[in-house]
Amino acid sequence: MERRKLVIIGSGPAAYTAAIYAARANLHPLVYEGFFSGPGGQLMTTTEVENYPGFPEGVTGPALMDKFRKQAEKFGTTIITEDVVDVKLDKRPFLITGSPTTVQADAIIIATGASAKRLDVPGTKDGEFWQKGVTACAVCDGAAPLFRNKDLYVFGGGDTAVEEAIFLTKYGKKVFLVHRRDELRASKCMSDRALSHPKIELIWNHVLEKVEGDDVVKRVVLSEVKTGAQTTHEAGGVFFAIGHNPNTSFLKGQVALHDNGYIKVKAGSSYTSVEGVFAAGDVQDHVYRQAVTAAGSGCMAALDAERWLSEKGHA
Ligand SMILES: Cc1cc2nc3c(=O)[nH]c(=O)nc-3n(C[C@H](O)[C@H](O)[C@H](O)COP(=O)(O)OP(=O)(O)OC[C@H]3O[C@@H](n4cnc5c(N)ncnc54)[C@H](O)[C@@H]3O)c2cc1C
Repeated sequence: MERRKLVIIGSGPAAYTAAIYAARANLHPLVYEGFFSGPGGQLMTTTEVENYPGFPEGVTGPALMDKFRKQAEKFGTTIITEDVVDVKLDKRPFLITGSPTTVQADAIIIATGASAKRLDVPGTKDGEFWQKGVTACAVCDGAAPLFRNKDLYVFGGGDTAVEEAIFLTKYGKKVFLVHRRDELRASKCMSDRALSHPKIELIWNHVLEKVEGDDVVKRVVLSEVKTGAQTTHEAGGVFFAIGHNPNTSFLKGQVALHDNGYIKVKAGSSYTSVEGVFAAGDVQDHVYRQAVTAAGSGCMAALDAERWLSEKGHA
């Protein structure tokens, strides 16, 4: 069976950055970039990325990820387009099972990211209004001209939903925070900020039924949860703020996780609870969740892995 010094699992900014650093350090990394999980990561689902440094004119998410991937390959990274379905972290070397290949590794970097939850509602899917006014990241997309001076609708009721609504007040004419209950799940201080904000209006006990438009979003249809009564509202943007799922199911409890499912790392590093296993990107970050922070932590993980391998006499 093939044995590698370093296997990287994932394919977003964190995984490819880790691969660039590890390949340049002669660790000959092997990357499992995923198959059904969507190689390239979350940026493959977006159009224009305007906040990644080095691209003053902006760059599309897929074009940016293509550059990351090519740069990783240029320095000798091997990329396998498979999902990892199992790992055995109680063995040395570690065992990594893709579908169908299996490899051994002295060290592993987990950079499998997270998936933004989306409401399954007509008009919001790929090929409909997804990325044409419907998105799941206000911080990433809110500043786009499409949303300027429009009525914007945020769906959710936790701290993230309130944060995103407040962020969007900088751009939108008015921000409607739609929640299916009659009180927010957000902390008291965040709830108070939303309730007292002059540009935010809460719409209680409502859910999204449908998104309508022409080339871009123009209207949302909401329904009252108890009566089912439907109302149509002019809208320039729809923002889902209903959380993320970190992609950790293949770990099957072998690495310590936070209660919300994100991988625990030692503060200021990429070290996980298992020696020789490092984590980078959104899979261990439920706070910042940006491409540039994911890339930065990918660099950290590669440097941590390189030092650890060298200390253990593997590098
Ligand atoms: C709609 C949208 C727009 C965004 N726009 C911006 C923006 O403009 N600017 C910005 O900075 N950020 C943006 N973000 C956030 C940004 O995309 C993420 O912060 C970043 O992609 C996280 O990178 P990552 O490397 O941690 O993982 P991800 O990008 O989440 O990629 C991880 C990938 O690993 C692979 N994987 C998962 N499980 C497995 C497995 N078991 N085996 C093998 N491979 C696996 C999958 O292909 C997965 O997609 C946006 C996010 C979304 C959803």
